[in-house]
Amino acid sequence: MEDFSPLKPHQFSLTQTERSRRKRKAIVRASEGFFLLLAVILPLAILDAIELSLQDWISAIAVCSMVWGSMFIIVVTKVDRFLAFFDPHFLVVPALGAVTLISYFAYLMPDLRILVLGGWFTVLLFGGGLMTFRQSLVLSFAMGIGYMLAVYAIAQTGYPINLAAEVGQVIPFWVFWGYSGRVTERMRLKRLENRMLREQLSQYAFTDSLTGLFNRRAFEHEFERRKGVLKTNEHLGILLFDIDHFKRVNDTKGHEAGDDLLKEFASILSRAFGNDACLARLGGDEFAAIITIDSLVELEQALEDIFYANRRAIGGLFTHSCGAVFTSNKYSTSRVLRVADTSLYEAKSRGRDCFVAKDLDKVSAALATAPKVDPSLADLDQLR
Ligand code: GH3
Ligand code: MG
Repeated sequence: MEDFSPLKPHQFSLTQTERSRRKRKAIVRASEGFFLLLAVILPLAILDAIELSLQDWISAIAVCSMVWGSMFIIVVTKVDRFLAFFDPHFLVVPALGAVTLISYFAYLMPDLRILVLGGWFTVLLFGGGLMTFRQSLVLSFAMGIGYMLAVYAIAQTGYPINLAAEVGQVIPFWVFWGYSGRVTERMRLKRLENRMLREQLSQYAFTDSLTGLFNRRAFEHEFERRKGVLKTNEHLGILLFDIDHFKRVNDTKGHEAGDDLLKEFASILSRAFGNDACLARLGGDEFAAIITIDSLVELEQALEDIFYANRRAIGGLFTHSCGAVFTSNKYSTSRVLRVADTSLYEAKSRGRDCFVAKDLDKVSAALATAPKVDPSLADLDQLR
């Protein structure tokens, strides 16, 4: 027996690959905004509506490509993971890149520098709901400094500009941004809260509240998932366990004692399969497990071991039966569970305290050749 690693259906967190894909997409989208702006500016520059030489326009395109190209490379080469300690969503670094670009644009197109101040908000909106208050303040500070440097550089070119007034414009922006940073921080906390609620709801939807094991829905989900990744020559074992004469416990000792027994049996099974097992309570006193296994013989050997361990743990207080199926990935979940159920029924009819394991390929082959008209095969017909 190996590979009991379970599905964690309640986990909503994205995989590294999905996260990286999202970051790449965000970078492409942000860069599109900048290139679009430059595309709109080109005819204005050609028509002399704004003062921008073709050479400067080309240099803006080049710097833009350099900044966004570097961001893209950082994500593709996974370097962003080293920056995760201060920028886990990889927002601040690209935003600083955008700040640099915007300031450079302000320097190239002094007439449009007011647009640059507008861009301040656009850049910070990207971080909405993800950026901390401190991160947004850092960015806002960088934005103001970038703008002032650009304005200073513009003044050095001889462009008529009132430096004191320009700096004066930056101060209210800092104040506005202080407030906006508070709002985005609240959005971030709300987002975190929603995420925790979603995880909690999912936990309820996929967990059996009595035992803490997976419920039927999670079990079927996990079986589908494991079937999906199974190679043609690989097989799974589905094991259905049921406590013998459980009803008697309820009837003689009460429902609460019955619940305690169910919990006890759940922990006995968890111990037998290991903590990471894909174990579920399907309902009532019926439990199920999925294992990766190479043959029916190996499945039977595993069951011998499990029964040995369980009997020792139970210490004669009660017995249990098991119906198991050895299957490839070509059968539907309901079919596999139906055959496992029939095996369990067979184990019960053999006097309980035992297991019956079946190879689903063989069951199917027998069914395919069995004449349908034979009334003694009515039970088998249900398996089709
Ligand atoms: P068998 O040997 O054939 O398995 O007989 P059994 O008495 O164990 O019968 P069966 O498995 O069909 O009965 C399961 C019983 O479990 C029926 C129901 O009253 C009881 N049950 C179902 N859910 C719960 C529960 O959450 N707690 C308790 N205490 N009992 C439950
Ligand atoms: Mg039972």
